[in-house]
Amino acid sequence: MGLFGLTVTRFIRAFLLTMLCLGILSSLCMAASTHELTYFKSYETTVDGEEVIRFELGLNRDGLAYKESTKAYRPNTLILDLDDTIPGRLRHQMQLSGIGESLKVQEVELKHTRLQLNFTKPVEELSYRVYTLSENRKERKPARLVIDVSKRGKKAAGSTEGVEGHTIVLDAGHGGSDTGAIGPSGLTEKEVTLAVTQKVRDILENSGAHVVMTRDSDRDVYGVNATDRQELQARVDVSLREPATEIFVSVHCNAFSSPSAHGVETYYYAGSPLGYRLAALLDEELLREGGLQDRGVKDANFYVLRHSAVPASLVELAFITNYQEERLLADDGYQSGLAEAIARAIGRYFSGN
Ligand SMILES: [Zn+2]
Repeated sequence: MGLFGLTVTRFIRAFLLTMLCLGILSSLCMAASTHELTYFKSYETTVDGEEVIRFELGLNRDGLAYKESTKAYRPNTLILDLDDTIPGRLRHQMQLSGIGESLKVQEVELKHTRLQLNFTKPVEELSYRVYTLSENRKERKPARLVIDVSKRGKKAAGSTEGVEGHTIVLDAGHGGSDTGAIGPSGLTEKEVTLAVTQKVRDILENSGAHVVMTRDSDRDVYGVNATDRQELQARVDVSLREPATEIFVSVHCNAFSSPSAHGVETYYYAGSPLGYRLAALLDEELLREGGLQDRGVKDANFYVLRHSAVPASLVELAFITNYQEERLLADDGYQSGLAEAIARAIGRYFSGN
């Protein structure tokens, strides 16, 4: 073979060794390109002045690719499929508190990890954002996958302008031992007033208002066997106990011996120009929304209006004793419309529109 032959053999050996090393290296590189989840935490923070709940997952490296989805049969679950990712030592199932109920971490296929974040509400009602953050060596922060969920929920649906930062007392008329008026097919005033008032509350709270309810369930506010005066004063007291209260809105349904009586009425206390303004806006919005007859904005000596320390209005949504209007009052969609109308009127009251 001689010298030349030896060199060729050495060359081939060196070449093969190099190829082997490269092979090992490339498989090492492949392993290193897999993402690994390193930790999970959730906390409250502020993003552009908006309060959010943040769900944060640490990653061993940048460049995560993920896909976001929801399933119709599990509306409260946000699914994130992470490409080329292993769960590492992250626990499979974590109980959370607040808007996020639990997190499930699962390697559904080899190096394909699925996160299922369960919320207390349907995902479509949430305002949220999913994004990744690169590793920041200066701040010693690893690469992260972040899900920010707004504490205020979706602003577009079920919200209204002008109420942010204001304090409003909502009074669902009657309740508990007092059914209020009863419609020809048995609908009770107390259930309508509670349903509508709760919807108003949700809209106002979604819009950043502080809402206090005189009652939030089917109950007497003062207690069973109270006199009318005690019961009504208990409702006024709810607003007196909250010093920030700016307005008081009491929700009722009208009733009359003749089933033909129908339409919308709103009331204010005669001595209160701001109460009149509130009642007039409520009347206008309720008419526009509900399409019923206008019976006008009237002054009255009702207890809750007379004793309120703040501008107050009492609305009669419609006549529960009228067959057609009773049907409307029982309808969830119609109730939602009325609730939006009341919330809009309150927004206009505060914004001066
Ligand atoms: Zn009533």
